[in-house]
Amino acid sequence: MGKLIDMHFHLDFYPNHSQIYHGINEFCQHTLCVTNQPEIFEACMDMYSVTKYVQFGLGYNPQCVNDVSFNKSTFLKNLKRTKYVGEVGLDFSPKYYKNKDKQIEIFDFICKNSTDKIMSVHCRKAEKILHEILNNNANSRVVLHWYSGDEVWLKKFLLFGTYFSINANMINSDKGRKIIERIPIERLLIESDGPFTKVDGKKYTYDKLSKVYVCLSDLLKINSDRVRDQISQNFIRLVEG
Ligand SMILES: [Zn+2]
Repeated sequence: MGKLIDMHFHLDFYPNHSQIYHGINEFCQHTLCVTNQPEIFEACMDMYSVTKYVQFGLGYNPQCVNDVSFNKSTFLKNLKRTKYVGEVGLDFSPKYYKNKDKQIEIFDFICKNSTDKIMSVHCRKAEKILHEILNNNANSRVVLHWYSGDEVWLKKFLLFGTYFSINANMINSDKGRKIIERIPIERLLIESDGPFTKVDGKKYTYDKLSKVYVCLSDLLKINSDRVRDQISQNFIRLVEG
């Protein structure tokens, strides 16, 4: 059976990150640990070895835009250390909208330099410009994380070849379920977005990843072994493609 995949996890947000790092390796769960700033990626890479199961994404979260400046040279210096970029993206919700031009400039710079990378992308209320930037820079290995946009843009992203990583909170909401049901199973990936999601009413911890799979299998009414194999095949296609 295919190994479990967690395509978007914030290891550094857990105080006991060292214990979790070892636990994920023991559980053999392929996990992309995204980071919100290049400096945090650098610290993680200096602290931890990359393994078959734990990889780190070089990121700059658009939700940092009001507080933390983006250091281009730290980003570029670290880019050769990984084939994963994330969390990156655009967030035009009210709190971050005032810095939308700065976000666009940063995201465009990241995309230009990440054409061969696997990207975990955050997009809120910015589908049009985000699609345009990915398209202009020919970023073809894109995973949209926790997609919340409308059906028209969902279709455009599918045509573009995008994958979608979905989580327990999406599976447990009406809006999220409607989105998941419109994504072909060949384009689905699983994420925890831990610690920002809940499974069975409790903050996500890495031992709950298999439960997220069970929830998805219940929603899609597909046997859980088949779901697991399919997600694993999707992951291999993305990573090796
Ligand atoms: Zn995240």
